[in-house]
Amino acid sequence: MRTQVAIIGAGPAGMLLSHLLAAEGVGSVVVETRSEEYVASRIRAGILEQSTVDLLRATGLGERLDAEGHRHRGIYLQWPGERHHLDFVDLTGRSVWVYGQTEVQKDLVAARTAAGQQVYYEVGDTALHDLETDHPSVTFTDASGAEVRVRADAVAGCDGSFGPSRCAVPSSVRQQWERVYPYSWLGILADVAPSTDELIYAWHPDGFALHSMRSSSVSRFYVQVPNDTSLDDWSDDRIWTALADRLGHGQDGWSLETGPITDRSVLPMRSFVATPMRHGRLFLAGDAAHIVPPTGAKGLNLAVADVALLAPALAALVRGSSSLADSYSDTALRRVWRCTHFSWWMTSMLHTSGDPFDAELQLSQLRWVCSSRAGAAGLAENYAGLPIGF
Ligand SMILES: Cc1cc2nc3c(=O)[nH]c(=O)nc-3n(C[C@H](O)[C@H](O)[C@H](O)COP(=O)(O)OP(=O)(O)OC[C@H]3O[C@@H](n4cnc5c(N)ncnc54)[C@H](O)[C@@H]3O)c2cc1C
Repeated sequence: MRTQVAIIGAGPAGMLLSHLLAAEGVGSVVVETRSEEYVASRIRAGILEQSTVDLLRATGLGERLDAEGHRHRGIYLQWPGERHHLDFVDLTGRSVWVYGQTEVQKDLVAARTAAGQQVYYEVGDTALHDLETDHPSVTFTDASGAEVRVRADAVAGCDGSFGPSRCAVPSSVRQQWERVYPYSWLGILADVAPSTDELIYAWHPDGFALHSMRSSSVSRFYVQVPNDTSLDDWSDDRIWTALADRLGHGQDGWSLETGPITDRSVLPMRSFVATPMRHGRLFLAGDAAHIVPPTGAKGLNLAVADVALLAPALAALVRGSSSLADSYSDTALRRVWRCTHFSWWMTSMLHTSGDPFDAELQLSQLRWVCSSRAGAAGLAENYAGLPIGF
């Protein structure tokens, strides 16, 4: 089979790339190991930054987001006895939206299905070939067991952190940076209305906690736990008690509402960057090239920013102009490293290490961010997101 761009991975990066390429008049084929239902139901990110929302709206994907998403002006930062609101709109003129990755994925699948996009789900043995030539290809076994080869002008590796694309960049040119944090997040989804109008990021001596939400009736919570924590050790009571303590139940009359837990998982925290994001006719985007800890809400937004740069670069490449493709890796990595730093910075400021010196530095930093307009604006600018192409 022949197409212009072979896309590996039907997560948000791969599906949005196929959507943006179609808008540029470029054909693509998407291959995905999992089923459509599995990809659409994975509970992951929930915060969209301004540039992501602008892009989704501009490309016809904003209807449900506008109807069902919730625009937030900012976030709360707190530590025992104090809660402060940072108003991003006031500080930077930009805001964020609560709209789950599950919903973004559904909107993408609906749009691509309506447009007749070819997506092979439940494939096996995905392999990349001839990437250093002008006629690369991707082979796989389709759901019926047939062996398929897709010949293309370019291959987009949008296959997340465990896909084969990153490793197709030879180790002689690939560089990797990694930071593994000494803690994880235990995350729950609960059928209960949020107890707050905007997200609460809480520093606490027992460990970080986050009150997030997915809708007016579904809340998302996280607590910092040691690495290798087993869910079996965390009963519902233990989870709600930890959240109540860390989020300040009873503080200034605020109370935490609880409800049935519908999903729970432990999420390890790591920062990871692989460079370059382009090798020959292979282009990496999203988690295939970088992972951030979720504290700064950047993972999904970074994947969107990558493909927003990649789509015009590939459109130009298939028409014979390589300058955008040549600069793609360097341009994308500027933003990747900015978001990697911001995510590390938020993580380091909010997670307790058990070291009392660290704790005093964290509290000092939090007080500065909440009392200095310059400090608050720095956080707001990064959290609400810098323009694509920054
Ligand atoms: C458990 C979890 C929780 C998260 N929570 C948050 C959060 O709270 N906030 C936040 O901002 N970010 C969060 N993230 C990060 C965010 O979800 C990712 O950054 C985002 O999904 C990146 O999109 P992607 O398309 O690059 O990768 P993915 O969504 O991982 O998609 C890659 C796709 O490639 C497919 N694939 C893999 N191998 C192959 C193969 N061999 N052949 C074909 N297809 C293949 C995979 O099945 C997958 O569907 C979380 C991530 C995880 C894993």
